Amino acid sequence: MTPAQSALIDAVRAHSGDKAVVTDPDDIAPWLTDWRGRFHGAAPAILAPANVEDMQFAVARAHELGVALVPQGGNTSMVGGATPPADGSALILSLRRMNRIRSIDPAAGLAVVEAGVILANLHEAAEAQGMRFPLTLGARGSATIGGLVSTNAGGTQVLRFGTMRSLVAGVEAVLPDGSRHDGLAALKKDNRGYDLDHLLVGAEGTLGIVTAATLRLVPAVVDRATGWLGVESPAVALTLLRAMERGSGTAIESFELVPKLALDLVLKHIPGTRPPLDSSHPWLVLVDYVAASPDTAKPALEALMQDALAAGLAQDAVVAANEAQAGAFWRLRDSISEAERAEGPTMAHDISVPVDAMPDFMESASARVEAAFPGVHCSAFGHLGDGNVHFHVNAPAGADGDRWRAGVGEAASHMVYDLVVAAGGSISAEHGIGQMKLAELERLSPPARMAALRAIKRAFDPHELMNPGKLVTLAPSPPTP
Ligand code: FAD
Repeated sequence: MTPAQSALIDAVRAHSGDKAVVTDPDDIAPWLTDWRGRFHGAAPAILAPANVEDMQFAVARAHELGVALVPQGGNTSMVGGATPPADGSALILSLRRMNRIRSIDPAAGLAVVEAGVILANLHEAAEAQGMRFPLTLGARGSATIGGLVSTNAGGTQVLRFGTMRSLVAGVEAVLPDGSRHDGLAALKKDNRGYDLDHLLVGAEGTLGIVTAATLRLVPAVVDRATGWLGVESPAVALTLLRAMERGSGTAIESFELVPKLALDLVLKHIPGTRPPLDSSHPWLVLVDYVAASPDTAKPALEALMQDALAAGLAQDAVVAANEAQAGAFWRLRDSISEAERAEGPTMAHDISVPVDAMPDFMESASARVEAAFPGVHCSAFGHLGDGNVHFHVNAPAGADGDRWRAGVGEAASHMVYDLVVAAGGSISAEHGIGQMKLAELERLSPPARMAALRAIKRAFDPHELMNPGKLVTLAPSPPTP
């Protein structure tokens, strides 16, 4: 621990109490590795202020002492975004004690929520008031509002409600010098120049600490139906989505594409899972249909499915008989990453291309990567309607994880990202850049874009004390090998 870190810890403890500082290595250990287990950091302490004033104190002292901080919510980042550097040069700044829902206003359709509130808890609180926060994802039991804001998270309802950015009506944040930005007032019109709230959305903790956000709510779901369809190809799946949207307006909230091979891995590795359809299809689609009046969603989804079967767009279909079965259907989709992880090493790529180009991209990129790296198997699944899939390159059976990742895995990743850029897409659709994609962002971004990102970073955080080594560094990062 450096003398400056030690002085910061003492100052925070004296100002905010013992609970605001964690120094026991056993308590720190779970927060040093990312969810996928790829990045391992070190930190002599976790600072955990419980309110915005204490947060301002901690950040201001860190600024004076020149101590780097790594903001952390639920630590479910898929890109090593919340993992501290391995040399112990930063302290973790946990938001988990700032976990109050300050208000829910059903009439205005707004909630003011602190950064450490876990997504599932906000879902529950909104529902108790007849409202809904319409963003969900597999990590909802751990991911926090601050993390979701800071990564501009997506999930499975983007098709209808957009990403986190479209649900954020205001942000409260502590800036790198400890000053407070209060943008919580949900102004419908506000043209005072640069939008500071939305600059912080997706900033991955590199411009300041999000302490609370005003979030948009929608009325609670009155009736929902969930079903699986078996389809022949991603191209047919996209035609099916368009047909269903034509037949239902905005009632289709989720439309997730899953290859049979990914489903097979879920059935193999996740206890208690069962195939949703009796027959076998190369691709499956999971659909959520939401209706405004009771007992209408299931018949409406069934009618859409009948049309799809009659038009030859689907070969088989099933609607969940009840909530429990709908939950089991979603568990299949939400468990794919976990099942692939259990099967063996995988390189995951959260990418987007224009929606209409995605089916071709999935097939052609898979063919090219599999031809270039014999033995690997590509699997792409996810949010087809958003032009965003998780494109995974899975190692051959028996491959040594670390060695495969560092060699063939990295080379295959370069190729995937090159193909994405050639298709006019993004190398990060929803997970952010973190430390995992730092060098690839540099390699594949036009110089003007990198210069603009650096200028913003320099203006807010010239000493690089806010989540150093993530998203963008002031000096160009070295190229990947
Ligand atoms: P953390 O992992 O703790 O942090 C994420 C980033 O935000 C880091 O850079 C961190 O420094 C920064 N940060 C955290 N809190 C703050 C704050 N208060 N102020 C400033 N910076 C902060 N993501 C999607 O978009 N869509 C998905 O469908 C999806 N599915 C997932 C499924 C699983 C099983 C898992 C494990 C993850 C998934 N994710 C998904 C990724 C992840 O859940 C999101 O990135 C989420 O937003 C992270 O929230 P968190 O609280 O865990 O943040």
